[in-house]
Amino acid sequence: MVFPNAFDKLYIGPSGVPVDVPANSGTLGAIDKCVEHGWTTMELPFVHSTYLKLPEAQQVALKVRELGFPISCHGSYYINLNAQERTKVGASRGRIVEAGTRIFQAGGHSVVFHSAFNLGMESAEVTRIVIDELHKVEEELAKKEVKVWLRPELTGKPLQHGDVDELIAVCNGVETALPCIDWSHLHARFGGGWNSYEEWCSVLDRLATGITNKNVLQRMHMHVSGIEYGPKGEKKHIPLAQADLKYKELMKALKQAGVCGTLIVEAPELSQKLDVEMFQDAWDAA
Ligand SMILES: [Zn+2]
Repeated sequence: MVFPNAFDKLYIGPSGVPVDVPANSGTLGAIDKCVEHGWTTMELPFVHSTYLKLPEAQQVALKVRELGFPISCHGSYYINLNAQERTKVGASRGRIVEAGTRIFQAGGHSVVFHSAFNLGMESAEVTRIVIDELHKVEEELAKKEVKVWLRPELTGKPLQHGDVDELIAVCNGVETALPCIDWSHLHARFGGGWNSYEEWCSVLDRLATGITNKNVLQRMHMHVSGIEYGPKGEKKHIPLAQADLKYKELMKALKQAGVCGTLIVEAPELSQKLDVEMFQDAWDAA
């Protein structure tokens, strides 16, 4: 499942390793545990560091190709392509390049990141800056012959760059960019909106018509979770059973639109197994 192939179905799995995997099992053990649970994908959280080292990454690549088990990574939390200080922008680019390179070496397809903070600037201006900086990231990756989708994420707070229209603009401006659609962030970002079949269908339609020449609905990468929110958006992930997200309708909207790709469930540790199963069951029943 390597860039830039389309996916043949929807793969569902956790963010981070299965919580019941023994310590020191590494990423290889985590993938085995996912398979044991019947989970078909996983996202590696490189959010504090790119912890997967090259020798294991090379073994992971063999395994995921053999299993047909797509993997992705979530890049560093410390990324702001719109930082005031140029050194911080350069470091942010470096973090995307580092995570993207390692997940490519591990046979993965995408690196997810939160692009930027808006810092009170016009949306179009931040979008232009994000596109410029991602061009430089693309150049770096191309030099290393790394082929991986850059996945700016739909973010959970209005202070962060990354609403649906901004993502569409970035994906049209950057050849190797496709969105990471976090449906729970969309819901939380507007203090509880975007929680119905019709609204989700309309977003999928906007993506399909807005992003040109990329066959986006067959190359979707998504995050979902139960989420707690307030007027300023996202607060924290909560167990799906305690959340108000109409996840069955969401799965119905995805199936109706023929979505293929990867759906990553970001659950609190305690409810990880149950939450992944709830999404999988809802998808199967949709
Ligand atoms: Zn994220």
